[in-house]
Amino acid sequence: MATNQLTHKSDAVIGETLLTESEIQQRVKELGKQITQDFEGIATTDKPLIVLGVLKGVLFFLADLMREVDVPNEIHFIDISAAKNSSGHYQELPKDLEQAINNRHVLFVEDIVDAGLTLSYVSRILYQGNPESVSVCTLLSKEANRIMDVTIHYTGFEIEPLYVIGYGLDFNEQYRNLPYIGVLKK
Ligand code: 5GP
Repeated sequence: MATNQLTHKSDAVIGETLLTESEIQQRVKELGKQITQDFEGIATTDKPLIVLGVLKGVLFFLADLMREVDVPNEIHFIDISAAKNSSGHYQELPKDLEQAINNRHVLFVEDIVDAGLTLSYVSRILYQGNPESVSVCTLLSKEANRIMDVTIHYTGFEIEPLYVIGYGLDFNEQYRNLPYIGVLKK
């Protein structure tokens, strides 16, 4: 009979807890409130805020964040790995997304900005769709690892350059469902 393994406490790869579930949820509430204030009256049902997340790491953060955002919105996802063509080069923005962001305010939501490569790439292709504006929200940021010059409007937590898991972030596709964020053991 399986026991409840949600915390995986006995697992050899999970090191110290960096952010507890309540710390994360508290910060997510604050971010949601801030985003609501900033887009109040700007995002309308005729012109909703287009929220875009990159699969799969952002799933849990985006789901919690968007339940704290109280302005009209549409939620879209992009799979960056699927955006690469057979020669490993990135392709253009998917057509449906290009149409969705035309003349809209876009909120791009990331789980973690590390070197900034993903953010830099997505920002670049987003402009193919002629958005009115692009704002960026990330739960975690590792500024010490940054190699790209990127702008982030909403940051949940600035963290040390450690490899972290949980709350959407994986190690070999596992541990995404941990409700907290822990450091991967070396
Ligand atoms: P960047 O494109 O900023 O260099 O890296 C962003 C991507 O790298 C994230 O979306 C995530 O997939 C991965 N990544 C970077 N740091 C971590 C980390 O500490 N833990 C996990 N699980 N993924 C990370």
